[in-house]
Order: sequence, then structure tokens, then C-alpha cells
Amino acid sequence: MKNACEKFGESVFNDAVMQKRLPKETYKALKRTIEEGRSLDPAIASVVANAMKDWALELGATHYTHWFQPMTGITAEKHDAFIKPIGEGNVILEFSGKELVQGEPDASSFPSGGLRATFEARGYTAWDPTSYAFIKDGTLCIPTAFCSYGGEALDKKTPLLRSMQALNKQAVRVLKLFGNEDVKRVYPTVGPEQEYFLIDKEDYKKRPDLIATGRTLFGAKPAKGQELDDHYFGAIRPRVSAFMKDLNEELWKLGVYSKTEHNEVAPAQHEMAPVFATVNVVADHNQLVMEMMKRVADRHGLVCLLHEKPFDGINGSGKHNNYSLSTDTGVNLLDPGETPRENAQFLLFLAAIIEAVDNYQDLLRVSVAYAGNDHRLGANEAPPAIISIFLGDELTAVIESIASDSAYKGHKKEQMLLGVDVLPEFPKDNTDRNRTSPFAFTGNKFEFRSLGSSQSISGPNVALNTAIAESLCNFADELEKADDFTAELNKLIRRVIREHKRIIFNGNGYDPAWVIEAEKRGLLNMRTTVDAAPCFIAKKNIALFAKHSVYSETEVHSRHEIRLEKYVKVINIESQCMSDIAHRMILPAALEYAKEVAKEAGLKKAVSAAISLATETSLLTKLSEQTAALYTAVEALDKATASQDSGLDMLEQAAYSRDSIISAMTEVRKHADVLEGIVAKKYWPMPTYQDILMYV
Ligand code: ADP
Ligand code: MG
Repeated sequence: MKNACEKFGESVFNDAVMQKRLPKETYKALKRTIEEGRSLDPAIASVVANAMKDWALELGATHYTHWFQPMTGITAEKHDAFIKPIGEGNVILEFSGKELVQGEPDASSFPSGGLRATFEARGYTAWDPTSYAFIKDGTLCIPTAFCSYGGEALDKKTPLLRSMQALNKQAVRVLKLFGNEDVKRVYPTVGPEQEYFLIDKEDYKKRPDLIATGRTLFGAKPAKGQELDDHYFGAIRPRVSAFMKDLNEELWKLGVYSKTEHNEVAPAQHEMAPVFATVNVVADHNQLVMEMMKRVADRHGLVCLLHEKPFDGINGSGKHNNYSLSTDTGVNLLDPGETPRENAQFLLFLAAIIEAVDNYQDLLRVSVAYAGNDHRLGANEAPPAIISIFLGDELTAVIESIASDSAYKGHKKEQMLLGVDVLPEFPKDNTDRNRTSPFAFTGNKFEFRSLGSSQSISGPNVALNTAIAESLCNFADELEKADDFTAELNKLIRRVIREHKRIIFNGNGYDPAWVIEAEKRGLLNMRTTVDAAPCFIAKKNIALFAKHSVYSETEVHSRHEIRLEKYVKVINIESQCMSDIAHRMILPAALEYAKEVAKEAGLKKAVSAAISLATETSLLTKLSEQTAALYTAVEALDKATASQDSGLDMLEQAAYSRDSIISAMTEVRKHADVLEGIVAKKYWPMPTYQDILMYV
């Protein structure tokens, strides 16, 4: 049997495979393309394609596909066989350079936000050679970007690649000022921690709400939820452990560095964390992770739920985006370093991030805004909808001393002098760090915790990369002109910290007092997708994206439309599904049980008028009251759903969904959940939270 090492990357056309299978010159040229982001020579592409095909055939592949990430947030693939007819019933196996580099899927049904009417020219897919091709299910998958005929991005990858380029350009400029002439590229590194639930497939099949919407629309709180905190990091049960083992093997084969696994806070909730890598590769990998989680679960008689809030009253799932910047010379730019020069450079990058997060709070917030995530952000769980930065006490003390020109506690000098003094050691400790912060410094990286579990990591990283590129660009503009670099650097960092200190908050993000304090500081608090959405098309944000060539104005507007349209659709599906379950499952069950109780009362009465019917009477009264209330609520919900005016603009429609449909849904659920508590178990038409959560 192969060990983990031998299996690792076995289905990936990675560097080692390329080195072995490509002629030396081709390999070198491809490497240059990959490392320096150059465009690929067609002659080289055809040699690479041929080698890729031979390799894939040896591994049993029969088809290839341009694997891409349309704005649905998941991946898409259309398979083509390698077979090419050559007449008289004969075929050869072929895969040309052109087929590798560019594709034309008839993908006209993906959302484009008006960018591409369905009757217009097809979209194009173009190979992203920085993300390795791989084999999945007998198909050679080529990671690609997806654009319209006119070059507008129709996917999640293109803007991510553009934002990496923007960031690279500005970061390299800044690094030159510190004398780093050898650095050719800077790229964001990301390690996304993925949370998920595992439930039994049989339970899942009996829950139309889970099937249609990914979350339970009904369900009374079980007697034992997560109160005892006995699940977090608890021993992993055999069934889950078998799943994790299988998942790891699948992911390792695909070259995904799945590393850490543990149980999460909620019952039936788990987490997987990979080793970090370059953000575009990780974005691809995270899509594979989500897909494999679902697939492997299925093999184990389980279902993997990636929704942000599958169960009400129980912690939802997020995705923690651990983020840093790395040079091609292997330096982590968010590592404080040991020498005064490294420290100064670190503080400048830190200042860039502080400024970026403060200036573009709105953009970060909207990058994680969608219906599923509204159940977490701004609701009663982590993290709050207010974007702020946690730096920890030590680092905060340092930057405060810089900002106020005062002595740093425990420091021998009067004050920290950048480029001269050495920073103290910062604890890289995991244990006592603040877990309520949406954006926390964790020793040598930041952890952006607001992402939802089902979300593509691309959008939030596009926002981060671009906002940071903007700060670095302004810093470089200023410092390149400086006569006395160290003096100007000190001045700049001091100014940035003074101007943006308000974004730093080391306290408890769940504390209601923070909401008030944040408002005083002028920080934004946008609780729902509908509140946050308009930020995306704010003038300053359109200007930011245009300046760094990440999105054109048209692309920004198209994405805005898609976000709102999706929100409206999700709420609509939920409301219809809820109504259906209430009408056809819950109401009949409650009526059936009431009939049984009434029958029982009648029987007793026939035996003797002296027998007390107090229990039956009381129960029947409650059942009738709640059934009537549920019925009224469902009727109101149906009316609310039907009254959605598709003539209004998307933002108005979304506001209507939030204000009228969601509140009607809350009312339906309230009565249904009361009924769940009083209707006999054998009459209840669906597995309850207790059944679902305590089983796996
Ligand atoms: P925790 O659950 O305590 O937040 P984990 O160990 O589960 O921590 O996850 C930490 C994540 O951070 C891992 O995915 C890891 O690869 C990632 N990470 C570590 N260093 C970096 C870095 N320099 N850049 C990006 N991600 C990083
Ligand atoms: Mg974490």
C-alpha cells in the first residue's frame, strides 16, 4: 500500500511531473510563464498539452475539461473526450495546445449580471497555468478563467488573478525601497479553515428543507445543544473518523494539503484546515475540498452540510481566511522579523493593512454578504458584522507609542524609532487569542473570519488584495520621493496609525457595548446583505477597482446585480419550500394527532361521563390554537411571496424579501416549532434536531 507521501499529488500534473515529462526547454519556458506571470507561447502550449494528455491517459482519463468558477460560486465543467475521428470509423486520441489554452464552453446559462445576453457570443475559458491541472473522476481538469467575448470577467478567478497582479506590482515597489532588489514577485498566501456539518443520509432524505435550501427551516431546539461544550475538540467518532481519513486521501491525491481536522463547537460540526498556499491555487483547492466533502460523505452514508446555518440556535459554519503576503524569496511580510530593518518593513505592511481595512471596511463587509451568511454576521454569533482589527495588546502598545511619540512600555528608549530599534517578541500563541474579532492578527498573518462556509474565497481576497494594493501604492508614491527614507517612513507610519486607529479593537466583539462604541468611532455596522450590497457600487470602490484594473465599472455593476438577484432567489426558494412543508407535512400531522386525541376523549366519554378529560381538552386546545396560528401564518407567507414585485429594481426586491418574506417565515416557524413540542413523535413528519444532531 502507498503511504500518504506517495499518494500526495498522484492525480496532479505538478512540477515534478512536468519536470519529468517535458523537454527541458519547454519545462523552463513554462516555469517562467508560471513564476513571472508571462503569457504562454503557443508552440510550448502544444508540447505541454501532448505531455499532459499522455500522462492523463496513463492514469485512465478519457476526457478533459476546462474547469472554471462561474459566478454561481461553485465550479463548472463540461467534459470532452480526447477522441478525434479520422475517418472510416477510426479514432485517435488528441489534445492540442489550443484546446489546453483556450475553450469555448456553451455556458450561456451562468449568471452574468447583464454582461452577456444569452443569445450573444459564448464565453471563453483560458488556462491559468499557475494552478496545476489534475484528474478527477477520469477527467483531466484544467483550471481556467472564464471571460466574455469582450474580455469581461464572468467568473471568480479572473478578478482574483488581476488583484494578485495589482498587489504584486505595488508590494514590489515598496520592497525595493527597503533594498530588496532580488524580490521579483509578492503573492498573497491563504489557508482557509473549512467548517462543515455531517449528518446521516437517511435523516437528510426526510428533510425537504435541507434538500432544497441546505438548511432546516423548521426545528425546535433540542434539550441538549452545544451548552456543555463537549463536542469541541472532542474525540472523533469512528464513523466521522473514517470519513475524514477517506477525505484526506482524496484530497492528497489532488494535491490539497489537508492537514488539521477536529470537531467544532456545535454537535455534528467539524473543521478541516489545509496548509496555506498561494491564494489562487487555494481558491481552486477550496472548491475541490467542498466538492470532495460532499462526495466522500455520500460514500459513508452521510451528508455534508456546507450551509452557514443549517440549524437554528446552534453555531453556524464559517471559513477562516488566514492571510499573509509572501515574496518569491520566501519571506513572510507579516512576520515581524528580528532586525530593525525587517521590523520597519513589517510595520509598513501592517500600516498598509490597517489603512486598507479601515478605508474599505464596506468592501470587506460586502464581500462576505449573502443570504446564508446573514444568519451568522450581525446575528447572535461570530463574528459581528462590524469590521475591526484585533492586534493584541503587545502590538497595539507598540503602534500606540509610534502614533503618540511616547515611550513604549518596557522599552529602554524614549520611543520606538523605526529602522533603528528592535521590536519586542510578539506571542504567536493560539490559545488566548481573541476569537470574536472579524480580522485578527495571529503572530505572522491575519485571520479574516467573516467568510461563510459555503462561500468561494475569491471575492473576499479580491477585496483584500485590492485595498492593500491601494495603500501600498500610495505609500510607494510618497516614499519614492523621500530624501531621508527613514524619517519619511517614521512620519508615514505615525500618520497612518493616527488616522486609522479607530479600526483597532482588542475587546469582545459580541459585547453589545461594542456596537455603541463602534458607532461612536464611525465604523460601519451593516447587519444584512441588503444593507451591505449598495457599498459595492459606491463611487470610491468603483474607482479603486478601476485604478488597479481589477474590475471595470460594468463588471462591478454586473456583480452587484448578481448578488441581489441571488439573494432574492434564495429567500424565494426558502419561502416556497417552507410553505410546502407546512401545508403538506406539518399541518396534516398536527391535524391527524388532534384527531387521535379527540377520538381518545370520545372513547373515554363513552365509558363514563365521570372520567376527567382535562388532559385531552387542554392538549386539543393547544393543538387547535397553534394549528390555526400556523395556518394563518402560512397564508400570510404565501401572500408575501406572491406579492414580490419583479418590476422593482433588484435592491428594492431584496429589501422586500428581507422585510416582508423573512419576517413572515419567522412567524410560520414559531408556530410549527411549538407544534413539534406537543405533537406525538410518531406523527411528526420529519427527523428532529435531536434525531439529526445526536446521531452521527
Ligand atoms: P486556528 O483554528 O487556531 O485558527 P488552524 O491551525 O486551524 O488555526 O489554522 C491555521 C491556518 O493558517 C492553516 O490553514 C495554516 O496553513 C494557515 N497559515 C499559517 N501560516 C500562514 C501564512 N503565512 N499565510 C496564510 N495562511 C497561513
Ligand atoms: Mg481559525
